[in-house]
Amino acid sequence: MIIKKLEVGPIMANCFIVGCESTKEAVVIDPGDDPDKILMKLAESELKVKYLINTHGHFDHVSANKRMKKATGAPIAIHPEDEPMFNELSNSAKMFGLESENSPPADIHLNDGDEVKFGEITLKVIHTPGHSKGGICLYTKGHLFAGDTLFAGSIGRTDLPGGDFDTLISSVKQKVFALDDDTVVYTGHGPETTIGREKATNPFLR
Ligand SMILES: [Zn+2]
Ligand SMILES: [Zn+2]
Repeated sequence: MIIKKLEVGPIMANCFIVGCESTKEAVVIDPGDDPDKILMKLAESELKVKYLINTHGHFDHVSANKRMKKATGAPIAIHPEDEPMFNELSNSAKMFGLESENSPPADIHLNDGDEVKFGEITLKVIHTPGHSKGGICLYTKGHLFAGDTLFAGSIGRTDLPGGDFDTLISSVKQKVFALDDDTVVYTGHGPETTIGREKATNPFLR
């Protein structure tokens, strides 16, 4: 499996390109900004995008949806409860003094338990509300793409619309921490971590 990490946009969200080595099919997780940078990395790696996936609807994970869809023709996939945010991207970016284009509507709704298949890879959708209502993580054995649900030593903020602290804690404890301890967690901001390390050291989850 090919995994490329790119920091995109002014809030430095992590965008991941995940690709199948044998078929060169790939997905882009959280095209948050800098579409040219993402497209260049795809070209460099000779990968063909099958899906554009948003772990949640915040603008820093979604802003390049429109330009990435135009450039690749790939469908946009998000949990249905976060899709309404697609029309609020410009307004919510303004609250941070930033700019964002709104996203075209989703082509695919991802619900808990759904599978995203490309090449020989299957990513399983785990609905993890709390940071937002429709937040999801994407899991394949050994790897979890967690969006803003879980960070190294921290958790996503819960003070934005749709956020709820208790819901987030229970999402992590019941669903994320059910995975193997050696699963690598690719977070929405900052460095990677593992399930085992967060279980042992994350101050929000003791
Ligand atoms: Zn977020
Ligand atoms: Zn974020």
